[in-house]
Amino acid sequence: MSESIDERVSRLHRQGVIDMHFDLPMDLYDKRERQNVLATDFVEDLRAGDIGVAGVALYLEDRYLPEMGLRRALDQIARLYLEVDAAPDFAICRSYREILEARQKNKIAFLLTMEGVEPLGNDLDLLRVFYELGLRSLCLTHVRRNAAGDGGLFAASGSPRDGLTPFGRDVIRECERLGIIIDLAHISPAGFDHIIEMTTRPVIISHTNARKYFDIERNVTVEQIRQIGERGGVIGVNAVLVSPKKEEATLDRYVDHIEHVRDLIGIDGVAIGFDFFEFIFRQWSVEEQVAFQNKFTHAHFVPELGKHSHSRNLTRRLIERGFTDDEIEKILFRNWMRVFEQWL
Ligand SMILES: [Zn+2]
Repeated sequence: MSESIDERVSRLHRQGVIDMHFDLPMDLYDKRERQNVLATDFVEDLRAGDIGVAGVALYLEDRYLPEMGLRRALDQIARLYLEVDAAPDFAICRSYREILEARQKNKIAFLLTMEGVEPLGNDLDLLRVFYELGLRSLCLTHVRRNAAGDGGLFAASGSPRDGLTPFGRDVIRECERLGIIIDLAHISPAGFDHIIEMTTRPVIISHTNARKYFDIERNVTVEQIRQIGERGGVIGVNAVLVSPKKEEATLDRYVDHIEHVRDLIGIDGVAIGFDFFEFIFRQWSVEEQVAFQNKFTHAHFVPELGKHSHSRNLTRRLIERGFTDDEIEKILFRNWMRVFEQWL
């Protein structure tokens, strides 16, 4: 009897799906009055989507900056450790070997990442402290300017053209030295060029989309995608900036982004960085939602790809669109694992 499509999805998910961008720590911090939040709010959905590894990002909302940035980042890490201690389903991993060990025990491996170096202020020594706390991947900026550089705007042009500051360059050099994966998500086009110029290792973009389908400087051009490919890096496709048009924010358009990257740099260069954010957005008041949309953009969440349990929808659609088993395994798992093995 031939394998059903659901059986094929399960087989392709056996090694675990890797999502390199998840805003978990800030949500754990916001729910700090509760205990066992991972167990009650997250484990079922993550397991339903066969998630094996997740990059969990430290991110600071504007209201904490600048004075409370370091403190809130440390609080987020504290919540993450407390929650993982209480939940046998999870492990915080610091190396490729620890990821393999966690997966052998069927634990979901968390890799601590940082989205914007605001917690460091302009103190390079703190990068070492965060490394000791488990930080293993870092992007220099979110949208706003910080001591390292500027983010790319949610607009087709107009991002600052200064590139990296001297501090930003120091952070990049120190990441290469320590073994913290350099992530070019969010960085301005000029900053992107600087990082490419000054590094040699396979840099990544944990969560982004192609400007072909959503033309803002927060996303990436054909040339930028090629530069990541030439470096042997990997691009995680983001599920929240799939299209500026609500009617085109679909699962098929998400797969179009994957195909676009694959066609430019090959299947070894494309993976997943879902950035599932709808659950946080829905927890906000209407005023907060409007403020977010005015500041960034109207994020059109993809109905069939809005949470981790939906990753099975993605795999099913990749099969329907003609991707081979080998290609799907690379997208879901093997490409990120290759990066982890190279860096960690
Ligand atoms: Zn982001």
